[in-house]
Amino acid sequence: MSATEKAERPVDHAVAAARFVADDARAHWHDQALWWVRKKRDVASSAAPDWEALRDAAAGIKAHTLSRLADYLEQFEQQAKSHGAQVHFARDAAEHNAIVHRILSERGITKLVKSKSMLTEECHLNPYLEARGITVTDTDLGERIVQLRHEPPSHIVLPAIHLKKEEIGELFHAELGTEQGASDPKYLTEAARGHLRQRFLEAGAGLTGVNFAVAETGGVVVCTNEGNADMGTTLPPVHIACMGVEKLIPRRQDLAVFTRLLARSATGQPVTTYTTHFHGPRPGGELHIVVVDDGRSQQLADPTFRRSLSCIRCGACMNTCPVFRRSGGYSYGWIVPGPIGSILAPGRDAAAHRTLPFASSLCGSCSDVCPVRIDLHHELLAWRQEIVRRGLLPWPKRAAMKALAVVFRFTWLYRLAGWLARRVLPLLPRGLLYGRFNAWGKQRELPPMPKESFRDLYRRHRARP
Ligand code: SF4
Repeated sequence: MSATEKAERPVDHAVAAARFVADDARAHWHDQALWWVRKKRDVASSAAPDWEALRDAAAGIKAHTLSRLADYLEQFEQQAKSHGAQVHFARDAAEHNAIVHRILSERGITKLVKSKSMLTEECHLNPYLEARGITVTDTDLGERIVQLRHEPPSHIVLPAIHLKKEEIGELFHAELGTEQGASDPKYLTEAARGHLRQRFLEAGAGLTGVNFAVAETGGVVVCTNEGNADMGTTLPPVHIACMGVEKLIPRRQDLAVFTRLLARSATGQPVTTYTTHFHGPRPGGELHIVVVDDGRSQQLADPTFRRSLSCIRCGACMNTCPVFRRSGGYSYGWIVPGPIGSILAPGRDAAAHRTLPFASSLCGSCSDVCPVRIDLHHELLAWRQEIVRRGLLPWPKRAAMKALAVVFRFTWLYRLAGWLARRVLPLLPRGLLYGRFNAWGKQRELPPMPKESFRDLYRRHRARP
C-alpha cells in the first residue's frame, strides 16, 4: 500500500487521535508549532487594511466562477492552446494518471521531478507511475522528507510538520548519508538541495500543481517558497501541470486578490517567494495541462457543500483548528485533513468518513480565518445532519441522542435529571466517571457540582428586592 493510500484509509477520528495524543510531548509541540503559524497569519492579515474586502472579493469571484464553470473552462482551453499548451481533460483519477503516464511513456521519459501537488496525491499518481517503471522525486523539502519515510503529507502546506528536526536528521543520515546525529536545519537543507539538484538534472519531465488558472489568458500560476517548481519546469523539456477544475479564475486582475490572500493565510508572508506564470511551453519544450474533475462536478451540484469548492488550499483552517492542532493530520484518514478535509472526504464516501464532521468543536475559528469565506463550521454541521439522515451514526450515539431528546422535551424530566446529576456524579468512583466508556472525560476534569440549579439561582436573585 502506498503512502497516499495509507493517508486515505478511512479511520475513526477519535481512535486515531488517541494514538497521536499518546505521545504527549509531540502533541503539545505540534499544537504550538501550528499556533505559531496561525499567529503569523494574524499579524500578516491585520497589516493589510483591506483584508476583509479582499475576502469578500475572493468569495464573490469564486462563487461567480463556479456558477459559470463550463464557460470558463472552454475559454481557458482555447486561450491555453493559443499559446501552444496542450490541454487534456480527465474525468477521474484513473484518467488523470493514464494521461500523465502516456505523456511520459510516449517520450521515453523514466524520471520525473514533482513539485507539491495535492491533486496528484489525491490521484495516487506516484505509486501508479512507479509501478510502471518511472522514478518520481518529490522536490518540495517537506514532501521529499515524507516521501523518503514512505509517509503521506500530514498537512497540505507543511507536509512534515509532525516531525522533529532530530527525526529528519536520522532519516537523512540513513538515506542521504549526512553525519550521524546532525540535526541543524541549515545543514540538512543543504544536503537535501545537493541530492535534489542531481534529480533535477536527470529528469525528463517536471510536474507541478496549479494554484490558479486564468480563463482570460490561458495561463497557469504556481506559487512556491523553495523555487523547486521553477527548477523542475526550466531544466527538463516537458512540463506537466495538473489542476482540479476549481482552480479557475476568470481574469488576470482577479489574481492579485488571491495571491495576497494565499500567502498571508498560509504562512503569514506578504507574498510567496516564487509566483510563476506559465503561458505556453518554454522555447523548444512542451506544456501539458491536465484538468481533472474527479468528483468535483458532483460537489458543484450540491448547493449545501458547493462553497467548499472555493478552497485555495492555504491550510489556515488547519492551523487554527483546536482539534487538528491536537490530533495531527494522520487522524483524518484523508489526504486533505482538518476542517476542509472533514467536508470533502464525506462528500466522496460518507460511510467511510462518517466520523470526520464530528472532529470539530464547531467553534467557528476555521470560518473566521478562511480567506475565501467558506462557511466551514456550518458545512460541518450540515454533514453531521446528513450522517444522521443516512443512518450512519453508530447506535450508542443514536440511543444517547434519543434519550436526550426525551429529557429535553419534558421540563420536569430535565429538572429531575439535573437534580440527580448534582447528587450522584460526586459519589461515582473516579474509574467509572473517567473510564473508557466516557470519551469526554479524557484529559477533562469535571468542575465541582453546583449546589443548586441555574433555575434556582435565577429565582433566588429575582426574589431579592
Ligand atoms: S477551507 Fe479556507 S482556510 Fe481551509 S484551506 Fe481552504 S481556503 Fe484555506
